[in-house]
Amino acid sequence: MSKKDLFMASLLGGAIGDALGYTVEFMKLDEIKAKFGEDGITDLELNPYSGKALISDDTQMTLFTADGLIWAFDRMRERGIGSYAGSGIYQSYLRWLYTQTKSLPDEHYDWLLDPQPHEDKGSILAHKELFSARAPGNTCLSALGSNKMGTMERPINDSKGCGGVMRVAPVGLFLHRNPEQAFKVAAEVAAITHGHPSGYLSSGALAVIIAELLNGKNITESTNSAMMILKEYPQHDETLKALENAIQLASSGESPEIAISKLGQGWVAEEALAISLYCALKEPDFKKALILAVNHDGDSDSTGAICGNILGASYGLEVVPEQWANQVELKELIAEVGSRLYDRYMKM
Ligand SMILES: [Mg+2]
Repeated sequence: MSKKDLFMASLLGGAIGDALGYTVEFMKLDEIKAKFGEDGITDLELNPYSGKALISDDTQMTLFTADGLIWAFDRMRERGIGSYAGSGIYQSYLRWLYTQTKSLPDEHYDWLLDPQPHEDKGSILAHKELFSARAPGNTCLSALGSNKMGTMERPINDSKGCGGVMRVAPVGLFLHRNPEQAFKVAAEVAAITHGHPSGYLSSGALAVIIAELLNGKNITESTNSAMMILKEYPQHDETLKALENAIQLASSGESPEIAISKLGQGWVAEEALAISLYCALKEPDFKKALILAVNHDGDSDSTGAICGNILGASYGLEVVPEQWANQVELKELIAEVGSRLYDRYMKM
């Protein structure tokens, strides 16, 4: 399996999981079963107007993360200084804010809407689907609207919502050769909007899991590597415990329904990561794992998205059902952004 294949599969898998879960994001398991039957939702719902399965803010922001990485990489190469979070990803997230609110926090940022040098193949702002409001997270909207960039040292708030972790898979893909760096950058990227340690450390952990999967480790080995690096950061206990619980429950005889409810609902970052990881460990089949990841009381699209990121990076495109791949919204843009991210990785 080529690394380019894994880049593509992780992004596409995340989008499919997001789309599968978005239909039932705000439904309790009982309500999901009442509507879709005892097995819950098992197939993508197609929008009657576009004929596509709609992605949500999770995939929209993941695409802005990937585009921001490319932006930052090019600027840092040109200038010789900078950081991924501050030299492209923050700017890319302000563009995301613009897609959702039609405004930027300051007119000083108007230039962000102009074509940029890294967009030689066209701007992602040309895609109207990215401007649709798909239940965007309030923490992301208010943090980015504040005209301040959050960092781990200067937290912007005390939020540990899953809006940080659900968007950082591209960091793990891009920086997979250096898992410690992947952790740090993904945590910095999440801290732009989420100031609670569990909010940004969960993001660091996911990036390492994705990175180590690209390095050929299996999901358990990749999680062990993530926990080793996580322990070097202050205030890691809550995130570490969530990961330990996911691994322990996946190897226990506990039924998935009970196991997932023990891990939480996924509205907060460490729970979203733990549920996603549990489903990827418990069920090796791509389709069954994603179905497991979205049929619960909690934040189904984010757990579906993160689980899909992990499964794709683990197994590659050959396990992604062709029908689902063809039905998901913005499939071509996802492939194009993945390909551009891979091209930059090759130039590193
Ligand atoms: Mg969402």
